[in-house]
Amino acid sequence: MWNPIKLADPNGEKPRLFFHGEKSKSTFVNIVNSGLGKQFEANLTRNRNGSYTFDIIPTKSGGDVNKLNEHQRAFYDALRNCIDAKTKEGKELIYDIDVYYAAKDVHTGNYIKNAIDVADMNQFNELNDGGATKQGKLIHEFEEQRMKAYMGNAKGEDMGYKFCHKSAIVAENKVNGNRRDSYDRGLGRQTHEETFTLPNGEKHHVKVSTSTAIITVTQ
Ligand SMILES: [Zn+2]
Repeated sequence: MWNPIKLADPNGEKPRLFFHGEKSKSTFVNIVNSGLGKQFEANLTRNRNGSYTFDIIPTKSGGDVNKLNEHQRAFYDALRNCIDAKTKEGKELIYDIDVYYAAKDVHTGNYIKNAIDVADMNQFNELNDGGATKQGKLIHEFEEQRMKAYMGNAKGEDMGYKFCHKSAIVAENKVNGNRRDSYDRGLGRQTHEETFTLPNGEKHHVKVSTSTAIITVTQ
């Protein structure tokens, strides 16, 4: 269907990613694609300012949401929700995310800096292994930034963190297929523990150490 808004601004309605180094881009694409069951894939379009507009598109032989398993479907739906984000007035919501690989000051994601670290995300489980997953972390950070932009908070601001973090956990839970506690437990200066309740009611503990540029995850 003809859409005048899309014609007027073909790239304006999608999140824009600023990659810092080639590995940040290839790792990001890997995490996205490995969660979409060969049915969909990341599509990055380079903009004039060097950022990339991010979307997910059907693969050549795929494009069937019914072939996605429960986790992949939740990941797909959550990505679409972040990609097709709207403002409170129903207009296209534009937001930027910096994508790093092994940045010392970004551990998985940094709310204030509107930044994610895909080397850190890569330390978590594969999507179908459950627990704390790479795709769950990616969605957590994207949903957090989507909500931050929705609330009108700019890069560099820390306003609204608790609210956005809670919304991010809801999105993360759907992808992981479990339930994460709202607050992590500190285990010393640079280590914390995230606790997840699995579908069978068992507790799953994930220890995260942020003392190195790439975090260490034990689960
Ligand atoms: Zn968070």
